[in-house]
Amino acid sequence: KRVEVGPQVHAINPALVDERAANVVRVLKEAGFEAYIVGGAVRDLLLGLKPKDFDVATNATPEQVKGLFRRAFIIGRRFRIVHVVYGRGRDHEVIEVSTFRANVDNAAAEAVSGNERTAKGQLAGMTHAVGASGRVLRDNVWGPQDEDAARRDFTVNAMYYDPETRVVVDYHNGIEDAQKKLLRMIGDAATRYREDPVRIIRAVRFGAKLSALGFKLEPKTAKPLLEARALLAEVPQSRLFDEMIKLMQTGHSLASVDQLRKLGLAKGIYPLLDVIVERADHPFVKAALQDTDRRVSEGKPVAPSFLLACVLWHDVLNGWNARLGRQELPFPSLQAAIDEVFDDRVGDVSGRGKLGADMREIWMMQPRFEKRNGHSAFSLTEQPRFRAGFDFLRLRADIGEIDEELADWWQEFSLASDGARESMVEELR
Ligand code: ATP
Ligand code: MG
Repeated sequence: KRVEVGPQVHAINPALVDERAANVVRVLKEAGFEAYIVGGAVRDLLLGLKPKDFDVATNATPEQVKGLFRRAFIIGRRFRIVHVVYGRGRDHEVIEVSTFRANVDNAAAEAVSGNERTAKGQLAGMTHAVGASGRVLRDNVWGPQDEDAARRDFTVNAMYYDPETRVVVDYHNGIEDAQKKLLRMIGDAATRYREDPVRIIRAVRFGAKLSALGFKLEPKTAKPLLEARALLAEVPQSRLFDEMIKLMQTGHSLASVDQLRKLGLAKGIYPLLDVIVERADHPFVKAALQDTDRRVSEGKPVAPSFLLACVLWHDVLNGWNARLGRQELPFPSLQAAIDEVFDDRVGDVSGRGKLGADMREIWMMQPRFEKRNGHSAFSLTEQPRFRAGFDFLRLRADIGEIDEELADWWQEFSLASDGARESMVEELR
């Protein structure tokens, strides 16, 4: 059932609509295609939030979309989409354009791959899809808009918005659920979690994000979550890691921890996530989560390495102190303590060389902040990861682990001119 709702009913503020996304829709429509802003952006607009990014859905194929824009790139294997790029450098923006997908199961996808045309959809991009798994095939069968809507996750995530006519297209009572503040899975929730277990984590994430607006998970959406958790075992670790980062670094980390606990999912989603939830009330970890949420809300960058360095700091600190107690030397013993923490967490951060290296640098910098004499203060500020190391020091000071004075000194030093720095070091003597 297709429902169209105009601006008399919804209160979308056109000023919150990204001009470039509106432009993509206009160009596609002028070329004779259907096109809409879709998904999370429509949800956020309806709720009066400013969307962080805009996706467009269309009945044009990726090749057809690419042909209409100067800077457009077909990307993705499992899910072929087009990135339309505007601007350069800091101001650059990517609008993701996806072709309406059919709601087909694996068997149907294989039938299409046998070069038959089903009545439903037509498989485009076969050269990319042939030989890949049924899932890749299935995800690239184009179809009509109503099927595109049906394969999305939550009703509030499955709406389409035309910025010209200001009409919202809704097939699954998304508008009503938005008014009732309900996060509801489209279709049978247990089945949808089985199809893609990552939806379990998405339920937690949107539940957390929207809890500030008073949203609740609809009971039928929440009920199968616990039982579905075991299905996460078949999801690649790298995808779970990425979902954990989205839970923790999109501005709703504390709410996500609450949500996980409330839903009985405090354990068993991903090993490092278990640790975060377990420690979320420890002052240092809590401060780190709060700091992350604040930074995101201020539009500042956040790094997984920083958060994970905070979460595992007490393991490092304990191992380090134990070694210092045995009269080992400070630097080698810190190094050894860090190695031990990485060994214990093998698999969780392994295969992510840069992430581990950044965590190590943040930790190794800590004792160096204690040494401010001679050249050491100057060379420390020149470290590429100085800023992260300093922010870490600041958090330690905030919770009383080290002297506030030390963090203040470094803050002043890092901002001071060369001359002022010389005298700051002089004064320490
Ligand atoms: P955010 O504001 O965090 O970006 P979003 O709703 O835009 O939230 P995305 O991950 O960007 O989330 O996905 C865009 C849209 O694609 C979703 O709104 C949803 O309609 C659909 N979608 C994404 N992942 C899934 C999934 N695993 N199953 C079904 N639909 C999905
Ligand atoms: Mg999005």
